[in-house]
Amino acid sequence: MADKYPSVAYFCMEYGLDHRMPLYAGGLGILAGDILKQAHDDQLPLVGVGILWRQGYTWQRLGANGQPYDSYPNYDEIKEWLVDTGVTVRVDVRGRPVRCRVWKTEAFGNAPLFLLDTNLPENEDRWITGQLYGGFEEDRLAQEIVLGVGGVRALQGLGIRPDLYHFNEGHAVLAGLELIRQKMRREEISFHRAWQLVRRQIVFTTHTPVREGNESHRYTALGYTGADLGFTHWQLERLGGAPFNMTVAGLRLSTLANAVSQLHAQTARRMWQDVKEAAPIRAITNGVHLPTWQDRSIAGIPRPLDPEAVWSVHQVLKEQLIDFVADRTGTRLLPDRLLVGFGRRAAPYKRSDLIFHRPEVIDPLLAERKVQFVFSGKAHPLDDVGKDIVARMAEMARRYPQAVAFLENYDMEVAARMTRGADVWLNNPRRPLEASGTSGMKAAANGVLNLSILDGWWPEACQHGRNGWQFGDGYEGDGQDERDLDALYKVLLNEVIPVYYDHPARWKQMMVNAIELAQPFSTHRMLEQYYTDLYEPALREGMHAGPIPENQLAGSQHE
Ligand SMILES: *Cc1c(COP(=O)(O)O)cnc(C)c1O
Repeated sequence: MADKYPSVAYFCMEYGLDHRMPLYAGGLGILAGDILKQAHDDQLPLVGVGILWRQGYTWQRLGANGQPYDSYPNYDEIKEWLVDTGVTVRVDVRGRPVRCRVWKTEAFGNAPLFLLDTNLPENEDRWITGQLYGGFEEDRLAQEIVLGVGGVRALQGLGIRPDLYHFNEGHAVLAGLELIRQKMRREEISFHRAWQLVRRQIVFTTHTPVREGNESHRYTALGYTGADLGFTHWQLERLGGAPFNMTVAGLRLSTLANAVSQLHAQTARRMWQDVKEAAPIRAITNGVHLPTWQDRSIAGIPRPLDPEAVWSVHQVLKEQLIDFVADRTGTRLLPDRLLVGFGRRAAPYKRSDLIFHRPEVIDPLLAERKVQFVFSGKAHPLDDVGKDIVARMAEMARRYPQAVAFLENYDMEVAARMTRGADVWLNNPRRPLEASGTSGMKAAANGVLNLSILDGWWPEACQHGRNGWQFGDGYEGDGQDERDLDALYKVLLNEVIPVYYDHPARWKQMMVNAIELAQPFSTHRMLEQYYTDLYEPALREGMHAGPIPENQLAGSQHE
């Protein structure tokens, strides 16, 4: 069955497969991990290419002063999950050869993940695959050389010839440069022609809807590290502009691109509209791998779902979360009181402490324990603003010790517990900065009701008062924080709390409706759409494009 589908090599800097395999930082990696698992379940010919991070992402805990601090244990035991393929490839970084060993995950049969590792005795630069998103520009470029250039060479060393390369985010675009470089050499053709040919084999997913959040590099850094692969400034600028923007390059190196929700596609098209020769951006809304994120006990309830059965399974999951929180923090929350979960990367636009902004509203609710909160979140190790956000969440837990808990080191395990056991999943980013958001999908799949701004995936799913709630009406502009806060309190006080305590039958029916959202927001649906809306059209386009007339090439080079 599998061979009627195009084969795909999926490149990503991070993969969230399991909390014991810390090769991820956040949502981007969780998406990549979920895709591999789903490709495995659905027998699709997709392989992953990534990096074996020896120290993973930060392991972040709170110090006695209430500020988070980072540590980086070595995770050498990960190798027990991997097999050595026997393939090593060479890349050059700062003029020095770097050997990359290629490991392969044991699990996921037809959809293996290949991981590059520079931590070898013969390398001077063993550190390159040390810390995910660690270090500064030149370190990042070295890592991107390993992922992109090393990744292409690894596939060749393994004898894998994919029909398509899928770059998840801009980190992987050096793979496109390597493919162009090889084609120019092998076929003795011009840069422009090789670019146009290679492009037919590449698709690209864009994420961060803030221009500054899209990585760009100075030409001196590209040259110094060797990330330029010997291309001229002029050639590189045709792809990535100046400075060299990885997302712009991704859009110009691909035939088709996608954004990760309908709203994000609009935002991304607007954001990149001035990029000439960019691939069209389609909308393919993210999903989650249900066997990972939907608790078995929920999945096992007979269909059609009986609201009482859903409720009693939920209460067990809630008690499990309460025990987990008590073990980790000493705070024992109450199972018969509303429990709101909030787990996010600590970035300012996520507005983690918005709900606390008006003590006169929230304090009485917490004092009576009408609502309880469990928070979690991690900041990038170099992001002091993010660290202050984490410190503020922790401070709220100290200020309201009965009703607010903070879980350190937000990871897949914490996320899984929270999105199974909370009653409500709160999400209040500053619109339109949430590209998709997948934690809310995990929550819905477990009957946890979303209470969210109309951002990311939620405008596509929300039926207010039926399967969750929206607040803020999609407003963007001046005074957004204040307006969103008014709206949040209004919905919380007039709808969420009364339905929870006074209309349990309605609450339980809403949980049933939320669980029914799981199918459309699963990676099963998403991958199907990748094949029908991205992979197959990209290949068709490539075939129909035919040969590129030589006379067009020379003339088009100096526009
Ligand atoms: C699901 C998940 C995310 C992504 O969630 P968002 O809704 O995009 O914030 C991030 N981190 C972890 C650990 C997750 O499990």
